[in-house]
Amino acid sequence: MDFGLKGRRALVTGASSGLGRAIADTLVKERATVAVSSRGGEKLQKAAKELGAALAVPCDLTQAGAARGLVREVTQKLGGLDVLVVNAGGPPSGGFEAITVEQWQTGFQSLWLATVDAIQEALPGMKAQGWGRIVLVTSTAAREAMNNLTVSNGLRAGLLGLVKSLSNEVAPYGITVNAALPGYHATDRMKDLGLSDEKVAPNIPARRLGRPEEFAALVTFLASEPAAYISGQSIACDGGALRGF
Ligand code: NAD
Repeated sequence: MDFGLKGRRALVTGASSGLGRAIADTLVKERATVAVSSRGGEKLQKAAKELGAALAVPCDLTQAGAARGLVREVTQKLGGLDVLVVNAGGPPSGGFEAITVEQWQTGFQSLWLATVDAIQEALPGMKAQGWGRIVLVTSTAAREAMNNLTVSNGLRAGLLGLVKSLSNEVAPYGITVNAALPGYHATDRMKDLGLSDEKVAPNIPARRLGRPEEFAALVTFLASEPAAYISGQSIACDGGALRGF
């Protein structure tokens, strides 16, 4: 299948490792012109070089307004933006009583407000060109609470409402908005949470963790030309782990 991504200008945030990196890699392989971003430093530069990304722009999504500046810079340097993939580092783990108000605020900034900022900045250009793909990387926690991930459980569910609301408004302009929900995938985040393959796999119908490139395939399809009629959806890639409809 031709994904029609050749020459499309894409930005992937949180792209120096894990799922974001795999998404950037797949988009590059589909011959999109890809800008990658993460907090920065050598890790980002190294990833950009290895991936063959057109551009690497540092941006800390926990900083208010930073995502807006990022999208502005990338749009200017690439001459426009067709695909926006919003992905951020996962929030801290912990039960409700262990999470401070500051942690809620940081989580809200990086998962929520950075998403709003990035989309608001990208929309006028996408509307003017009559084509756009917006994909939010969230989590299956948006549908089914995960143990000890209070911030993720609490904040990500609302993003699905944002997807529904926004997709409705921008569909007439040829813009789709979808959420891709990773289940358990083998990335640094899993190691940070102390979740090994042996611990998690028995609870997943597929009996293994996902590979980042499997999740990236979903996001790349949602970003593609053939996915033009798919919008307002939240789609999991989780080895069958979500039990609800
Ligand atoms: P990861 O830790 O492997 O990679 C996160 C990426 O985001 C890195 O490039 C990192 O540099 C970047 N990043 C971290 N903090 C940032 C910040 N403040 N500003 C900008 N960039 C930042 O994580 P991952 O496993 O790829 O997960 C990506 C997202 O998907 C996270 O939000 C995570 O919670 C969510 N998720 C992951 C899984 C999984 O199984 N891996 C499951 C459910 C949800």
